[in-house]
Amino acid sequence: MAEDKSDEKAAVIFTDLDGTLIDHKTYSYDSALKTIRALKQRKIPLIICTSKTRAEIEKFREELEIKDPFISENGGAIFIPHKYFSIRYSFTRKTKRFDIIELGTGIKNLTEVLDNVKTKGFKITSFSDMSAKELSEDSGLKKEDAGLAKKREYDEAFRIDDKGDKKKIKAMIEKAGYRFTEGGRYCHIMGESDKGKAVKILSGLFRKECNTLKTIGLGDGENDIPMLKNVDIPVIIKNSAHPEIKVKFKAIKTEFEGPKGWSKALNKLVLN
Ligand SMILES: [Mg+2]
Repeated sequence: MAEDKSDEKAAVIFTDLDGTLIDHKTYSYDSALKTIRALKQRKIPLIICTSKTRAEIEKFREELEIKDPFISENGGAIFIPHKYFSIRYSFTRKTKRFDIIELGTGIKNLTEVLDNVKTKGFKITSFSDMSAKELSEDSGLKKEDAGLAKKREYDEAFRIDDKGDKKKIKAMIEKAGYRFTEGGRYCHIMGESDKGKAVKILSGLFRKECNTLKTIGLGDGENDIPMLKNVDIPVIIKNSAHPEIKVKFKAIKTEFEGPKGWSKALNKLVLN
């Protein structure tokens, strides 16, 4: 982004994937393609901020040729491509392609807590309990994508088989010192990280790098609330698969679901 330093960026967009940029049922993003193209043309950063794994996001970024940083597993880690920013910043470790700021707790600790929940007689099925084939059947993801979804590092996703147990399981997880949140389809356990903390850190880097910018966040689930809270313009995407999330701050609510609602909101906010 170094070449843009003197420019005033119109916005930085933080977006959830499932139920937001991607259709909840079909996992299609076709109706958002035109908007994604327009954002790229305007050099507006599109930061994916999802409960999905790094492996899933990398595939998605390649398909859409998105080159911006991203946030995996509900804020577990921030991945910044080398030389994306010209400012200096600290990070936890680096790979061939990314500087990684790790915020989450390692997956082993999380699955141990879930094992403990199971020994108390609660029926839950986590991603690590399922084969890629089983997860594919359960989620509607293609088998290959389910394999990528299982590569979890900082957040374990699971299904509660008896919905009546949710409150008790949430309390057990919180008592053990971990966090519980819900996405559109699965529940999640994580450490101290959340989407909001990651968004705050990355927004800070963008603000240091660019003159002025506004941040926009789009999401449909409970796990998006910390992200929505930490942007200038929060947008709640309608998803009739679950009750609308309740927030205590002012937010834009879309009339349409998934990628259609996503596109219409961004066309209005930054492209028109
Ligand atoms: Mg979602």
